[in-house]
Amino acid sequence: MRISLNQNVPIGVHVPYQSELVLSEQTFARPNITELTPVSFVGSLLRSEGGVMVEGEISYTLSTLCDCCLTPVTRQAKFSFSEFFGAEGTDEQEFDYALDGQVLDLTSAVTDAVLYELPGRIVCKEDCKGLCPVCGCNRNISSCECESLPDESNPFYALLLAQQDSEKK
Ligand SMILES: [Zn+2]
Ligand SMILES: [Zn+2]
Repeated sequence: MRISLNQNVPIGVHVPYQSELVLSEQTFARPNITELTPVSFVGSLLRSEGGVMVEGEISYTLSTLCDCCLTPVTRQAKFSFSEFFGAEGTDEQEFDYALDGQVLDLTSAVTDAVLYELPGRIVCKEDCKGLCPVCGCNRNISSCECESLPDESNPFYALLLAQQDSEKK
């Protein structure tokens, strides 16, 4: 995702630009990735004296397992991207990203945008019931009797029993 500005991007003209970025699964720092397409950017560049405004849309597809019930999930990410790359000599503190001389490199900005947009949890549906912690059945598909069993590892379980005892008296 590197563009040489000199020949390709004249000042003051919206220049269409599209490119793909191959990210490694490690970049996503999450388990169970089964498929990952390259990240696509489709948009335009607008160069000024002070830098380059990059606007467009990012999309890619990630297949993984639901964080809650481990069924396969395919997530089609699609979101807008808008970032200004400051030219050298401008106050670099002012911008998150800067041009490298006459070269615009979108790699780190697009990678950052992808990771920022990635949800902390990927689930098969909003109200996924997950797996039963006792028998491991998928609670979206089947129900089990485990839910009615008290959780003996819970430190309040003993208190609860004691309380029930005293209530009986
Ligand atoms: Zn699920
Ligand atoms: Zn169960």
